[in-house]
Amino acid sequence: MFLKKLIDVTHTLSFRLTVWYAGIFLLSALVVLSVFYYRIYSTTMDGTDRELLEEIDELTELFVQKGFEQLKAEIFAESRSEGEDKIFFRILTPQGEMLATTDLQSWEKMDIPPNILRAVADQHQTHYRTLDIPNQTFHARTAYALIGPEHILQIGLSLEDKEEYLDVFKKLAWLLMIPVFILSTIVGWLMARKALLGVNEVRLTAIDISKGAYNKRVQVKHRFTEIIGLAKTFNIMLDRIQALLKSMREMNDNVAHDLRSPLARIRGNAEMVLVSNKPVEDYKEMAISTIEECDKLIGTINTMLDITETEAGVTEFKHEKIDFNKLVLDTHELFRPIADEKKIHISANLPDVCYLKGDKHKLQRLVVNLLENAIKYTPHGGKVSTTATFDNGRIHIRIEDTGVGIPETEFPKIFERFYRCDTSRSQSGAGLGLSLAKAIVEALGGNITVKSTLNVGSHFMVSLPTT
Ligand code: ADP
Repeated sequence: MFLKKLIDVTHTLSFRLTVWYAGIFLLSALVVLSVFYYRIYSTTMDGTDRELLEEIDELTELFVQKGFEQLKAEIFAESRSEGEDKIFFRILTPQGEMLATTDLQSWEKMDIPPNILRAVADQHQTHYRTLDIPNQTFHARTAYALIGPEHILQIGLSLEDKEEYLDVFKKLAWLLMIPVFILSTIVGWLMARKALLGVNEVRLTAIDISKGAYNKRVQVKHRFTEIIGLAKTFNIMLDRIQALLKSMREMNDNVAHDLRSPLARIRGNAEMVLVSNKPVEDYKEMAISTIEECDKLIGTINTMLDITETEAGVTEFKHEKIDFNKLVLDTHELFRPIADEKKIHISANLPDVCYLKGDKHKLQRLVVNLLENAIKYTPHGGKVSTTATFDNGRIHIRIEDTGVGIPETEFPKIFERFYRCDTSRSQSGAGLGLSLAKAIVEALGGNITVKSTLNVGSHFMVSLPTT
């Protein structure tokens, strides 16, 4: 149980951010302290080298002025006074022959490197080295210098005190890592928590919404731009979901309403057959009316499915070459009998040649729906026209009528499923034609708009890509 909780915590973003923050902070502290340690170390070594050089200068002067015996006496005296375990002196020939040496007991085996002696003799340069002292934890710094043609002076200084001091620094630096680690973890955790506070609020709101509080929204009051962006996007998404739910609810109501009347009529017919005793001809008429109601219902259901599938992108659209002029003229011919009956004049204003790529069947349905509406909502003696123009790889189709018109407030609503304006209640229809038209246009990558004036007429504009 505890282990599971622990694993859960390690999977949280706050934990990961805290670990990253603490890790980077610790690493930075380690780099800073290492650089600092290196600086102290090199300063200490430089100081030791300066000490060695001063000593060499003094002894060289003594050797030049007072000779070898005086030099010998001086190095013995100095090694005794400083401590034989702190400093040692050797005088060697360039060939490695020992001319004089102080007590080397504390320094264990001290080799004579011939290559260094040769280099010092040849180049007349002081040579520095750091030596490991066998069985000791500390080191020694040594310098070789040519003080006469046949005399090389070697001085060795114990680094015990200096290394002890550097060791204290090293230990302190490691100890400092503990508070640095604790502090960086706390600061990291607080920062991660603060940064994720907004995310948590989004999560809590999502939980509330999942429990039914659909009106709840995330408060946009945080300081961080990213969190404000997240909260705003989340709220926009919620608004859209709520609008979608509302329209689905309305659609359900409409579906129920639109299906209830034909179903009631079908039931009425069936009941009549059961209870009445009428001639066979009457029953035949009832059967015909029942079939018509059923066809209407099937038509409505099929259109609804078509709209849903087109909107969801389930329907596959063909990409064939279409002679748009022919398509429009054929559709006009289809509606000509009804138009003639209403004495409506239909005309087409099309380019000489008009080819485009798309799904012929879908495009035909689009034109049929718009033309059918134009003729349906235009009174006797009116006019309906179809115009097409090309521009920038798009075709602009305009279907115009001199019909009853649509109130401006209802422009956006007429594209919703089952929506019918009050002005058109007297006409047949299910309120699905424009929804399907819009779904087809959008699936083809275009857009559809409407302009209308009550009792003057309407025009629907469709813009589609031609390829
Ligand atoms: P319907 O089956 O009612 O025609 P549509 O979805 O095709 O359904 O149209 C929705 C509503 O938009 C119609 O009921 C009508 O009120 C209005 N409408 C559509 N086209 C026209 C038009 N050309 N002139 C006037 N009103 C129109």
